[in-house]
Amino acid sequence: MRTYLPKPEWIILDWHHACIAAEVLCVQQCATCSVWRHPPRKFCASCFSDDVNFQPVSGSGTVLSKAVSHRSLDPGWQEQTPYATLLIELDEGPRVLAATSTAPDEINTGQHVTVRVVPHGQDFVLVWADTVTTTAT
Ligand SMILES: [Zn+2]
Repeated sequence: MRTYLPKPEWIILDWHHACIAAEVLCVQQCATCSVWRHPPRKFCASCFSDDVNFQPVSGSGTVLSKAVSHRSLDPGWQEQTPYATLLIELDEGPRVLAATSTAPDEINTGQHVTVRVVPHGQDFVLVWADTVTTTAT
């Protein structure tokens, strides 16, 4: 079954294109004061500059919260329920929303994750988070 894909526009479309071109998660960074920001905006909230770039980020972050969906309005996601949508604070500071294939009861706030982008067509990426497992040495 096919899932609904949004049709991003304007500066949000620019962000999707930057992620597709870089093949990793990108975030806006002010070219004047270097402050990171997400979601993309026209002006920097710190210095009001409109001189910005999309820069690749590490993809490393921490789960701040999760929302568990037990039903999906989109039939394409129904087979995935229950699934968690995560709010992640990247190591660089900005926060992003991400889907995860990790079972909702196996992911918690404070957990470390890596974030990646998965292109769908030429104008949209889904942001996914994978849990980081540490092994004892
Ligand atoms: Zn700035």
